[in-house]
Amino acid sequence: MEKDFVKVWDSCLKVIQDNINLQSFKTWFEPIKPLKLENDVLTIQVPSQFFYEWLEEHYITLLKKTIKKELGNEGRLEYSIVVDNTLSKSPVTIKVPTKNSKDLKNPPISLPVNINEDNTIRNPFIIPGLKKVEVHSQLNPIYSFDNFVEGDCNRLARAAGLAIASNPGGTSFNPLFIYSKVGLGKTHLGHAIGIKIKNNFPNKTVVYVETNKFVQQYVDATRNGHHNDFIHFYQMLDTLILDDIHFLSGKEGTQNIFFDVFNHLHRSGKQIVLTSDKPPVEMQNIEQRLLSRFKWGLAADLQSPDLETRIAIFEKKIYNEGIEIPHDVIEYLATSITANIREIEGALISLIAQSTLNKKAINLALAKQVLDVCVKKSAREINIDYIQKVVCEYFNVPPEMIGSKTRKREVVQARQIAMYFSKNFTKLSLAMIGLHCGNKDHATVLHACRTVNNLMETDRQFKSYIEEIEKKIRN
Ligand code: ADP
Ligand code: MG
Repeated sequence: MEKDFVKVWDSCLKVIQDNINLQSFKTWFEPIKPLKLENDVLTIQVPSQFFYEWLEEHYITLLKKTIKKELGNEGRLEYSIVVDNTLSKSPVTIKVPTKNSKDLKNPPISLPVNINEDNTIRNPFIIPGLKKVEVHSQLNPIYSFDNFVEGDCNRLARAAGLAIASNPGGTSFNPLFIYSKVGLGKTHLGHAIGIKIKNNFPNKTVVYVETNKFVQQYVDATRNGHHNDFIHFYQMLDTLILDDIHFLSGKEGTQNIFFDVFNHLHRSGKQIVLTSDKPPVEMQNIEQRLLSRFKWGLAADLQSPDLETRIAIFEKKIYNEGIEIPHDVIEYLATSITANIREIEGALISLIAQSTLNKKAINLALAKQVLDVCVKKSAREINIDYIQKVVCEYFNVPPEMIGSKTRKREVVQARQIAMYFSKNFTKLSLAMIGLHCGNKDHATVLHACRTVNNLMETDRQFKSYIEEIEKKIRN
């Protein structure tokens, strides 16, 4: 009797889940639907060609093992790829998140400090004249941990942030120094830590401040003779999150003040979180004594997200917007936008806006149109024709031979190398690359890529050819 295909696939999923990380599992396995099981062939439905190729490229060994375990040696797996051209869902309504909303669950806290004759100290965040010191944390609830997608790119920083949030000032991560290039989540993570601390410890005073604002407050305070208020305000906090600390560069006065604040807080077991565009060792025009303090705790960086994380980020944002976007559009966006998460958001917002304003369905065509305008193109787009041209020139093979059936050694090699570069430099699927290189199937392309990679590892001469060709292609 045939086994129940749903049960079989469920057992497979259990094995798979134990072998890969949660995020990969969610990205690549949760969307799969089991379809049928006939004569030991399990058919699963995957959302797209791209999806199928990704599984074949990255998870084939695991899949094979799992199928064998569940179905025995005769067991096989077949894919059914969803080809869906009927994506004309009705346009969605736009719901732009209110990023400036400042209200957190916890109201601002009044601090019992008596500094001036009129029993107040001046709060640098508020316009002079206010009577009581109200510490508003300046945190933006949108930037929570719930909205911060975990990936290899941010695992350490995120984990450290969570550790701090459950024990602010009490871990060895003090200061926590988070650094990265722009748009990779420093500000988001800084807020997330603050928000979580406030949730865990409502009575703690937490302040988030951008370094530029901090500098300006200091300048104003000094000019108006409120220098002491400024210092006292910051020294009485339980957690200080100072964003973009590299802007202290060259600002000696503020550096001195911050040195005092830092020492006071650190000595009192208060938590300090700093973000920067560089690690402490590479920062310039910052006093040595400050730099050395930045190294007291943990410095953790945020990297560019990998494809899986980008897809997860897209999915999270889409979910938060309460809209639906076809899987192929998400794939297209996530493979096209690679550098920076801010660009991901920009593209998504443009896409939603275009769809709403022009009453168009969100589909691949619209996504391509939007990306053309909103994502910076690299200097020159490297396309498959150009790659073939460079490779053929290099090996002195007539370009039309690539598309021919010939199996002559030098043509086969040129074809394989062209396939390899097309895979690395373009966003084409393996199937598409195969089609352009002599009407081969995706497995041939995959094989070509592996062959080139293997040769590069074992044959130095070959490696140097590839490196030279790569230079020419990039030029
Ligand atoms: P940075 O301060 O490093 O320039 P931001 O924190 O401003 O970067 O991040 C840019 C945008 O990307 C923000 O809107 C943020 O919400 C989003 N973002 C960054 N990292 C993540 C993540 N891991 N998950 C979800 N969104 C993220
Ligand atoms: Mg920032």
